[in-house]
Amino acid sequence: MALPRIDTLLLDLGNVLVFHDNALLVRNLAERAAADPAPLTEALRGELSVMINEGALSPNAIREEVCRLLGGVNIPMPEFFELWSSHFTLNEAVFPRIDQLAESKRVKLVLVSNTNALHWEWLLPRVPVLRHFTACVVSHEVHAAKPRPEIFHEALFQARTPPTRAAFFDDIPEYVAAASALGIHGRVFTTAEHFDVQLRELGFIP
Ligand SMILES: [Mg+2]
Repeated sequence: MALPRIDTLLLDLGNVLVFHDNALLVRNLAERAAADPAPLTEALRGELSVMINEGALSPNAIREEVCRLLGGVNIPMPEFFELWSSHFTLNEAVFPRIDQLAESKRVKLVLVSNTNALHWEWLLPRVPVLRHFTACVVSHEVHAAKPRPEIFHEALFQARTPPTRAAFFDDIPEYVAAASALGIHGRVFTTAEHFDVQLRELGFIP
């Protein structure tokens, strides 16, 4: 029996559509605050990241907590907003492929991202291919971050697609495994060139 045609592409944002240099982010913030970067580095490796990604902290609460970890400096929101996203660069190599998939009208594109309201507000107008996406499922809005199954269920619901007809690309193998456990065709994203090979193998492109 033929496999069902895979017609839904669930895509991660960070290190797929945009690169994020987290060490640079901490360095930029610590330099602005003239503070030791270690407490912030440590906090972002742990529970704070999950709380930020799952929307447990408001944008202002994120700013306040980061400022506290930088020795109690006060960085006003407009400045913090830019600094907090100062580590992003676009992965322009994948954009032509996303444009092409969208133009084919054979693929439903859905974003599945662990992010926060500040990053999302900064990135949305700067990542032009996002206009092609049927839905953007962002962790801070659904209050569930990858690898939790809830975020994948929400993405499938919004795509109106069963898991067997969806593929998911992420740079983090743990998240790919979580999607695969739900029956989604999970693939680890590495480079634009490898992405092409994987898309062909999944039948998205000839
Ligand atoms: Mg990522």
